[in-house]
Amino acid sequence: MRRLEADVVVIGGGSTGAGVVRDVAMRGYRAVLVDRVDLAQGTSGRFHGLLHSGGRYVVSDPHSATECAQENEILRRINADAIEPTGGYFVSVPGDDEEYADRFAKGAAETGVPVNEVPIAELLKREPRVNPRAMRAFDTLDGSVDGWQMVWGAANSAKQYGAQILTYHRVTKIERKDDRVSAVICSDDKSGETVQIDCNFVLNCAAAWGGHVAAMAGCPDVEVVPGAGIMIAMNHRLVNAPVNRLIYPADGDILVPVHTVCIIGTTDQKAEDPDRLAISREEVQQMFDSGEKLVPGFRQARALHAWAGARPLVKDARVSVADTRHMSRGMSIIDHSTRDGLNGMLTIAGGKLTTYRLMAEKVVDVMCEQLGEQRPCTTASEAVPGSETGKFYSVTHRLHDREEDRLEDQILCECELLSKRMFTKLQDEQPQATFDDLRRQLRLGMGPCQGGFCSVRAAGVSHGRGKIDIERATGLLRLFLKNRWIGLWPIMHGDQVRQTALDDWIFQGTLDIEHLPQPEEEVVR
Ligand SMILES: Cc1cc2nc3c(=O)[nH]c(=O)nc-3n(C[C@H](O)[C@H](O)[C@H](O)COP(=O)(O)OP(=O)(O)OC[C@H]3O[C@@H](n4cnc5c(N)ncnc54)[C@H](O)[C@@H]3O)c2cc1C
Repeated sequence: MRRLEADVVVIGGGSTGAGVVRDVAMRGYRAVLVDRVDLAQGTSGRFHGLLHSGGRYVVSDPHSATECAQENEILRRINADAIEPTGGYFVSVPGDDEEYADRFAKGAAETGVPVNEVPIAELLKREPRVNPRAMRAFDTLDGSVDGWQMVWGAANSAKQYGAQILTYHRVTKIERKDDRVSAVICSDDKSGETVQIDCNFVLNCAAAWGGHVAAMAGCPDVEVVPGAGIMIAMNHRLVNAPVNRLIYPADGDILVPVHTVCIIGTTDQKAEDPDRLAISREEVQQMFDSGEKLVPGFRQARALHAWAGARPLVKDARVSVADTRHMSRGMSIIDHSTRDGLNGMLTIAGGKLTTYRLMAEKVVDVMCEQLGEQRPCTTASEAVPGSETGKFYSVTHRLHDREEDRLEDQILCECELLSKRMFTKLQDEQPQATFDDLRRQLRLGMGPCQGGFCSVRAAGVSHGRGKIDIERATGLLRLFLKNRWIGLWPIMHGDQVRQTALDDWIFQGTLDIEHLPQPEEEVVR
């Protein structure tokens, strides 16, 4: 057994946990973050990509609206490399409640969310595909945000302040000595080793899994309800900026441009298990119908990939447990000392990716108060590594980079302009990484062909360099394709069937992938 020591263990490496570990480390505590898988592989990597201006909540949840507006401004300073400052629109179309627009304008003024009404002619100049029958429109400071980039930025900042980030470390037990937390026990799923981290405080940021983690410390019945939502990526950017319907928040009412694609979402259904989120045909059709209302002809674009994420909604006594759409989007902190008589542990859940920094500030403030220490939060005033210059993400950056210094380099993934050198460099740095781990960092297989060409090249390059044997190369390829196809089945119709048939022909017809040498067990490490 490996033994480590820390002041604070943070459980969960999504946006909340990454923000929390950064905050804890910046306040001078020795911190360790553990996640059962890779960073941001939970909801923070399975969300819609909208940097909220607050506009969505000005009528339904004014407090959240103000929080979003304030954090939006801060994140633009500290997480610039994760943000594309597109601006955004709220647009009403025929059939929408005509009075809502005035309530929206009034709510925005009251909550401090900057909005401006835009003439429809001007809207259509800026967003030519938006419904020409639009009735009213407002522009906002919405943006497009990459959840992975944001989480890595916070985690790298935490590392600079001395924190350890342990991925693929699954918490199996939380030890207590009398009425206080004393250690967190994890399984290192890459090495198979057990790891004990002795500590004085635990911050449970396991979100939709938070109830399960709290129970490991003997704190039962923490109800974090998974509010599942589906999203679909379309094959190009149908809009230049996020377009929201100008209505009370509902299903399928936002279209967000993210990197080279755009994403329509989302639904909200109570799920039983955050690890098993189904995508029904009805929900897929509902997204296409909603897309058509915002952008006529939406269905003619090609749907590339569907996925689902689980909102960590803390059970709200005012709302039925099945009605996740109307549960508060605000954050909740559960104090286990008053609730369960266990000192040294807090659970935080709820909120949004946009409010990740604020959530961290609030929960670490409570921790400091319980420890009787005054250590002020400084996370709002310092940019994370990579964002120091304040330069925002731009969708054309890979083209730029290629024109600068990669002209001689072989392209591995045309859709995302990923070069061989980028791939091999990361693989050398992370020899244990699966192709999915690399995908999240490089966008391998995330464009229109969904891995049809680049996945095979990635396997060939990996094996050809002599770094991995043929069994592991095919194992990694099969695992990658299996995971990609989970998101293809629910949307397989129209042009996507043609693309999928071509991919299938490549894999089965020319490579006979089912019969290539492969490891006895599926590659997970
Ligand atoms: C469909 C949908 C769309 C959304 N869209 C937006 C949006 O556009 N903009 C926005 O701002 N917000 C959005 N949100 C909300 C936002 O995504 C979430 O609030 C946020 O990502 C939650 O982050 P988190 O860190 O709390 O949870 P997570 O990212 O889920 O992190 C929890 C982590 O805990 C880990 N964990 C679980 N069990 C264990 C264990 N035993 N041991 C170790 N680790 C464990 C998990 O692996 C996971 O990484 C959306 C949410 C959903 C569901």
